[in-house]
Amino acid sequence: MTRSLPLTAEERLWYRRQTVLPEIGEAGQERLKGARVLVIGAGGLGSPLLLYLAGAGVGTLGIVDFDLVEVSNLHRQILHRADRLDTLKTESAEATLRALNPHVTIVRHDCAIGRDNAADLVAAYDIVADGSDNFATRDAVHAACLAARVPLVSAAAQLTDGLLTTFKAWLGPPHPCYRCLFPDAPPQALTPSCAEIGVLGPALGLLGSMQATAVIREILEDEPGLSGTLLMVDAWRHEVAHTQLPRRAGCPVCDAPQPPVTGGNRLTSSPAESS
Ligand SMILES: [Zn+2]
Repeated sequence: MTRSLPLTAEERLWYRRQTVLPEIGEAGQERLKGARVLVIGAGGLGSPLLLYLAGAGVGTLGIVDFDLVEVSNLHRQILHRADRLDTLKTESAEATLRALNPHVTIVRHDCAIGRDNAADLVAAYDIVADGSDNFATRDAVHAACLAARVPLVSAAAQLTDGLLTTFKAWLGPPHPCYRCLFPDAPPQALTPSCAEIGVLGPALGLLGSMQATAVIREILEDEPGLSGTLLMVDAWRHEVAHTQLPRRAGCPVCDAPQPPVTGGNRLTSSPAESS
């Protein structure tokens, strides 16, 4: 389980409307304070996600992004503002989140994340939340999380729709991995970016808020989580559908022998280890 840190008197007051919830309580709030969450991307999904995680008092938030704030971001990336154009998104995000909740520690990672550095970045965190916009990044982040046995809460959105699920494939069947859902890199022609086809700001707000809730539930180990379930959200029609996401027979990732755990901070063990 994630570590707990005691609350100060000010924090007890700060989170009172949240600790009164039976789902959270003061013990849950102490676990939120002790948790370290890495968010990939301070963009359309990362904005609502980081705002709600910081607001909720998740104690340490790492942010990975290398981009600058552009004017075309502002309709949806609500961490950023018109007076911060051309500044790093991580810098803008840090300013917004510090102003929202000074109790939270923000750790900036002003870089891209890929095969070469994902394991090092993931190693310092308990949970990763991915809001990136391409297969290569998602695949690299998933591989690092699987090797380190770090839950990965993954969301994606385009147009007015989005997907949300959690990957914890090291737990074994029936938990699927990212490659069970996407066996191969899709051809570039089939994966147009938001820049090409557009995305609705509130759809990202909806997905990012749901992703933040999933992260909070992972921190509190509220079962069953979303591993093995795919949420499909149609923001325009106000519809949310759940479908089972099975482990795929013949998946090269799931069928591969599990390597030793990387990193040193994993507190979540597989059933085999805990029995
Ligand atoms: Zn798999």
